[in-house]
Amino acid sequence: MTETLSHYVHGEQVAGTSGRFADVFNPATGEVRVRVPLASAGEVNAAVAAAKAAFPAWAATPPLRRARIMYRFKSLMEENADRLAALISAEHGKVHDDALGEVTRGLEVVEFACGIPHLLKGEVTENVGTNVDSHSLRQPLGVTVGITPFNFPVMVPCWMFPVALACGNTFILKPSERDPSPSLLIAELLRQAGLPSGVFNVVHGDKGAVDTLLTHPDVQAVSFVGSTPIARYIYGTGCAHGKRVQALGGAKNHMIVMPDADMDLTVDALMGAAYGSAGERCMAISVAVAVTDATADALIAKLVPRVQALKIGPGNRPGVEMGPLVTAAHRDKVVGYIDTGVAEGAELLVDGRGLTIEGNEGGFFVGGTLFDRVTPAMTIYREEIFGPVLAVVRVPDYASAAKLINDHEFGNGTAIFTRDGDTARHFAHAIQVGMVGINVPIPVPMAFHSFGGWKASLFGDHHMHGPEGVRFYTRLKTITTRWPTGIRAGADFVMPTMN
Ligand code: NAD
Repeated sequence: MTETLSHYVHGEQVAGTSGRFADVFNPATGEVRVRVPLASAGEVNAAVAAAKAAFPAWAATPPLRRARIMYRFKSLMEENADRLAALISAEHGKVHDDALGEVTRGLEVVEFACGIPHLLKGEVTENVGTNVDSHSLRQPLGVTVGITPFNFPVMVPCWMFPVALACGNTFILKPSERDPSPSLLIAELLRQAGLPSGVFNVVHGDKGAVDTLLTHPDVQAVSFVGSTPIARYIYGTGCAHGKRVQALGGAKNHMIVMPDADMDLTVDALMGAAYGSAGERCMAISVAVAVTDATADALIAKLVPRVQALKIGPGNRPGVEMGPLVTAAHRDKVVGYIDTGVAEGAELLVDGRGLTIEGNEGGFFVGGTLFDRVTPAMTIYREEIFGPVLAVVRVPDYASAAKLINDHEFGNGTAIFTRDGDTARHFAHAIQVGMVGINVPIPVPMAFHSFGGWKASLFGDHHMHGPEGVRFYTRLKTITTRWPTGIRAGADFVMPTMN
């Protein structure tokens, strides 16, 4: 009998009552691991009501006390890092150490949120007019919502809820229905940390649950991470219903390889950035732009044997470098892109199609795949594949490489590998992308900076976590104060008259 997960509302596990469920797979075996309930509008409404009821007391709790709960949660997350990583690996498929890295990057946002008493400090100006002072403060919004993708089932929720909660909001997480289990362990750890009931809730579901949240009058703000078409929809629908929305979308991240790059360093960086987590990272490098044919030839000579030698298998097997894709449907989509690349004339140097792993024949595996001579007109160049497929594009000079990036629909992350400071500086200044690496392949900002792309990779005004996260989850109030002369002047025995 397959286990069925619950929702988590008002501090309790609540069984789904909609009668609708989705299968959650173990991608390494292809077997159904658990079933997840898909919430009805009524179930979502109950979660919003719980979060709304919990808001006044939580908002009135001093930031220092909210921070102390975050400190306890941080310790519990550290103690349970291995359990969290095992759940990630079991439902997403990524290798255990990579999952542990994900937990650490999420934990760092919790550490950032522990500083909330300092982060919420406002500004003061004495004497904006004679004897008139002004100060500003930031107050929480109310019920906030996070809708998250499958590829980081712990880290991406952690981009949102630690900051939202520390700021004094209540939160409803709608995790990906493809790997929902880690969110329930997070809820349990928050409960153990002393978070009051109703402050953090988990509602599982699909489009129906999301639409109910997006249009609910008691939801104040929505944070979304996922694919670009859905991000665009979330932004449009949420804003039309009066909500504050930040919606992060898909990516096609390019790495420029200059002729002076350290080729060994570059190849090491590319291997991790293109094939780590089977390419299912929004900051994965999926396009290597080699400047000059000689650079491309040198790069490919070193890359091909490395891609062929990738150790692929179930994520919980020691020594494995790359696990399976998340579902059979996603594997088929990635294989379809490889077919299209061949049909459109790209040169397939390493073919990951048709891979089976002994003992795991039912798993959703695709091997590392490498294309050369990819052109901007090709589908595999324009669209996000989200799999272990790296495309090499050849250009004659730096200017052509930078133009490619600036002309692309997406602008999430990018990198340049070079020894030349002038080129690197120009790249950092001129490139139309939100997160830029100089000899750093995956430039994910640390928790105390903010994460976000440009162009079709982000809809909204605010990036996530860091200072931008605090601004997103609070609204500004500015107070102007004048005190007429009062008791300081002493007792007045004369009949008061206006003067
Ligand atoms: P997805 O867009 O399919 O799903 C994301 C969330 O939206 C899930 O919770 C899902 O249940 C919900 N959803 C799906 N279809 C919906 C619909 N029609 N209406 C309302 N809600 C819907 O994304 P995914 O496949 O889970 O994740 C992979 C995508 O996320 C990739 O495109 C990747 O680049 C992107 N991503 C982006 C970032 C970033 O920071 N920009 C980070 C991680 C992932």
